[in-house]
Amino acid sequence: MLRLASVGSGSKGNATLVCSGETTLLVDCGFGAREMLARLVELDVDAADIDAILVTHEHSDHIGGVTAISKATGAPIYATHGSIISGKLESARRVVEIASDSTFAIGDIDVTAVTVPHDAREPVQYIFQHADKQVGVLTDLGTVSEHVLRAYSRCDLLLLEFNHDLEMLRRGPYPAALKRRVSGDFGHLNNQQALAMLNSLGDDLPQVVIAGHISEQNNAIDVVESLLEPMISSTDLTVIYATQSQGFDWVSPKSDDDISRVA
Ligand SMILES: [Zn+2]
Ligand SMILES: [Zn+2]
Repeated sequence: MLRLASVGSGSKGNATLVCSGETTLLVDCGFGAREMLARLVELDVDAADIDAILVTHEHSDHIGGVTAISKATGAPIYATHGSIISGKLESARRVVEIASDSTFAIGDIDVTAVTVPHDAREPVQYIFQHADKQVGVLTDLGTVSEHVLRAYSRCDLLLLEFNHDLEMLRRGPYPAALKRRVSGDFGHLNNQQALAMLNSLGDDLPQVVIAGHISEQNNAIDVVESLLEPMISSTDLTVIYATQSQGFDWVSPKSDDDISRVA
């Protein structure tokens, strides 16, 4: 069974684990090697079991610890050409270049790298398929393009960015230029954009959504909770909240048994 866990989620560092039982993948590492290795133990992951590290883009909250954890675990790094030439992987030993919008297999997981609108060189986010289940990771994008919506329309479980509340960002402490960057078309999804994406999915709404990359300055879990409340009470959607300090513990798509029990 495909499952997902996070070591931490937010602007200070991101690292997400995807595991099929046989194959373990790490998406990004914005944490130092020592902290990362300690947190892997908490999630019951043997660092030597990581088969590959997938980079989404070169911002330091995603790539900062990638080279170090690759050296510590021996796992190769998969990244787009733009991420590779950003200079952030210069001292890495094992780098595999991937094409945006391609699908490739690592062990028994099929990985699709989806192009997203974000202010990095060649940013992608990832969808994972194993057996009949699909799990998506979608953070760090300024708008939900048609391309993104189509690509993520079959997920059973989705880690989705609820970065900021627009009003909290406006009134918050960030300098004006940073506010413009965060809320811009190549910045981050605000709560309403993330909710609109879920609404657009209609019948293809995933059974489980993890709200992630939640800004500690410009958002709050209870704000996201009250926004999602109507959707949760009118569908069988389960929502989990990822935090900067803890990430979230292992979660799997609902089994077909669980779904038919609700239906
Ligand atoms: Zn980020
Ligand atoms: Zn970013």
